[in-house]
Amino acid sequence: MVRAIVGANWGDEGKGKITDMLAKESDIIIRFQGGSNAGHTIINDYGKFALHLLPSGVFYSHTTSIIGNGVALNIPYLLKEIKDLESKGVPTPKILVSDRAQIMMPYHILLDTYEEARLAGNSFGSTKSGIAPFYSDKYAKIGFQVSELFDKEYLKEKVERVCELKNVLFEHLYHKPKLNPEKVYQTLLEYRDMVEPYVCDVSAYLHEAIKEEKNILLEGQLGSLKDPDHGIYPMVTSSSTLAAYGAIGAGIPPYEIKNITVVVKAYSSAVGAGAFVSEIFGEEGDELRRRGGDGGEFGATTGRPRRMGWFDAVATRYGCRIQGATEAVLTVLDVLGYLEELPICVGYEIDGKVTKDFPTTRELEKAKPVYKKLPGWKSEIRGIKDYRDLPQECKDYIDTIEQEIGVPITMVSNGPGRDEIIRRK
Ligand code: GDP
Repeated sequence: MVRAIVGANWGDEGKGKITDMLAKESDIIIRFQGGSNAGHTIINDYGKFALHLLPSGVFYSHTTSIIGNGVALNIPYLLKEIKDLESKGVPTPKILVSDRAQIMMPYHILLDTYEEARLAGNSFGSTKSGIAPFYSDKYAKIGFQVSELFDKEYLKEKVERVCELKNVLFEHLYHKPKLNPEKVYQTLLEYRDMVEPYVCDVSAYLHEAIKEEKNILLEGQLGSLKDPDHGIYPMVTSSSTLAAYGAIGAGIPPYEIKNITVVVKAYSSAVGAGAFVSEIFGEEGDELRRRGGDGGEFGATTGRPRRMGWFDAVATRYGCRIQGATEAVLTVLDVLGYLEELPICVGYEIDGKVTKDFPTTRELEKAKPVYKKLPGWKSEIRGIKDYRDLPQECKDYIDTIEQEIGVPITMVSNGPGRDEIIRRK
């Protein structure tokens, strides 16, 4: 059975924790999009980890962890992440890398950095991991596929051709030193040696695994609202964050994805620029940021403070719909126990009219939140294992969210740890 674990919001919903937890009963876990630009924080028996490129299933010795063709593959980063795990006592994971994955080139990271600097105040809030230049090149058909590393002559010629093009930008737009094609070529040969032990025809591997009825997880990065088509364009990421793309980014038939588990955060947080209707500021925002996640809401990759907000039912309902959610997991609910009352954004007021439909970005920028307020439960819910033991106000909050988003909430996460989960249905 193939299950996708994806985010309903702006990312940082806690997908890593849920994947790590569900990986226990899985055989294969696959990253299908994105790169090392966002991270999952996982706390388990080995300690606390921030994974950026590896799937969150790497902590079990019975699982195979796969980097699918849809990922932006930063090869030195991958090796560094594997070494980090080993140095912390995690058994060497079984890792496969798609021969069709494309390679994050050192110049993608440079281009990302230079472009953010050039745009200055108008920047997109990029993590400068090279993601936008990487995917631009992939679709402009000047990216490098892992398989291409193994044909030296072809590789050399292509490097020269691509560097010629890139150097126009380096020289004339950014006024930076030009790329040396020979150096780029040598770097790629080093990359080839690093990645060779992991290279695999992933789609063929998964075809067999599906036939053998293995349990497979597709792990998404970021969330619905960062999808380049259906999110808050242009304040989005450059690869699709949707479960549907899991089929493409892993190389499996779309109809094999039977379960789409959408991770929903009990309040809102976002990084980077863009409209954020239920955002809160000042002391109210600072307090939630301080208490949020596990030790505060700061980006796992960048350390940037996350923007905070109340639960946005309009955005989340849309986020679930566009993912095709079959079930939802509500996370970080424990954080909200300090509040007297909990506002939920149940509508957007745009030009004097209230709507529950999530609009396109230009309209979204005009939206004002319409709140419904629920009483807080004013207590600590960490440690609770049985749904019936949750305070009534807390159950009411969950029921209200479930009604608003229209997807059954099957699990509630009440702490960052692997076992801090309450199964509901
Ligand atoms: P991801 O990218 O969706 O995996 O999310 P991140 O890992 O970036 O952010 C989620 C943060 O919340 C991490 O620090 C997790 O350890 C933490 N977390 C996940 N679930 C819970 C929960 O139920 N309660 C609390 N307090 N923290 C959680």
